Amino acid sequence: MKIPFIMTPGPTQVHEDVRKAMAENITNPDLDVNFFEYYRETCDKIKKLLNTKEDVLILSGEGILGLEAACASLIEPGDRVLCIENGIFGRGFGDFVKIYGGEVVYFEGDRRRAIDVEKLKKFLENNHDFKLATVVYCETPSGITNPVDKICPLLKEYGIVSVVDAVSAIGGEPVEVDKWQMDIVLGGSQKCISAPPGLTILSISEKAYEIMLNRHTPIASFYCNLSIWKNWYEEKWFPYTQPISDIYGLNCAVDRISGKNDYVERHKKIGEAVRTAILKSGLKLYPLDGYSSTVTTMLVPEGVLFKDIYNSMIEEHNIMIAGAFDFLKDKVIRIGHMGENCYEEKLYITLKALDETIKKLGVEVEGSLHKHFVDEI
Ligand SMILES: *Cc1c(COP(=O)(O)O)cnc(C)c1O
Repeated sequence: MKIPFIMTPGPTQVHEDVRKAMAENITNPDLDVNFFEYYRETCDKIKKLLNTKEDVLILSGEGILGLEAACASLIEPGDRVLCIENGIFGRGFGDFVKIYGGEVVYFEGDRRRAIDVEKLKKFLENNHDFKLATVVYCETPSGITNPVDKICPLLKEYGIVSVVDAVSAIGGEPVEVDKWQMDIVLGGSQKCISAPPGLTILSISEKAYEIMLNRHTPIASFYCNLSIWKNWYEEKWFPYTQPISDIYGLNCAVDRISGKNDYVERHKKIGEAVRTAILKSGLKLYPLDGYSSTVTTMLVPEGVLFKDIYNSMIEEHNIMIAGAFDFLKDKVIRIGHMGENCYEEKLYITLKALDETIKKLGVEVEGSLHKHFVDEI
């Protein structure tokens, strides 16, 4: 199988050190006490990334598992849940809520802008009878980040528990779980963390545990039941055999992030330079504000088809970029500059290839994408 140079907003490139770590020999993770220590050490490293003293868990399953597990564990039939949404993942969160019997109320934002905190404030003044609220930190398909630093403390004022999908933010955007009073924060291994897909990471507040442990009805799942993890370390017990090789990889990937204390700054700088290059070229961004530092979403130029751009990028340059799905299908081009993808030279070759590709397809470009990028960086 020929492997392209993936510049997609997840999965991202996986560094050789991470791949080598995954090839290490294994022990029996159910029995070996050393593995319990290793799992805990990995969680402690993630706690630093999330700036939290709360519990952190690593679950065996891609990021979506975290979204479903949070809903399964917190929601009882009839619970009122506020879904704060301005995009595909935010809206989709409501579907998980409904599966577990929650009554969803949507707070709908503008799909091309970050959630407006003032509007949310007004909304909450008259409607705040919610057990929990869901919100997405970075709407990956549209390239928009939401001000969760303001949204979560606001929810707390009304005693509403927050569940935050930070899958494409952790490791790229600042995350301050304790300071921002976030109850459950979810991440995946394959976005900014740059390990292969397959793991969920999440933090759980004391308040969230308390809700899970004081339910009227049992949690209707085993795999998605977060409360059974409460004393895993004291009891030296995991609910199921841990994917030890994946965790070796995750541990190494997190080390690669933590070793670079400038990673938030790096993502910000690269994100800004990519957007500036696009705008200077006369092309258009999808977001009107709330620009993400981890993914850039631009409109497919008029007169060309997304699939022609995608195919030509692969066939002639072996570089994979992404489109999007749902209401954004065929409308946007996405470049994932997160984690291992987020280095100047990688964006340079991607933008150079994209520049050549769209010019060949007849798009008028002012100057060159890659040259504007270099001028800006
Ligand atoms: C990637 C991602 C997920 C996980 O979804 P997949 O489509 O399975 O990769 C969840 N939430 C957000 C915001 C994501 O970017």
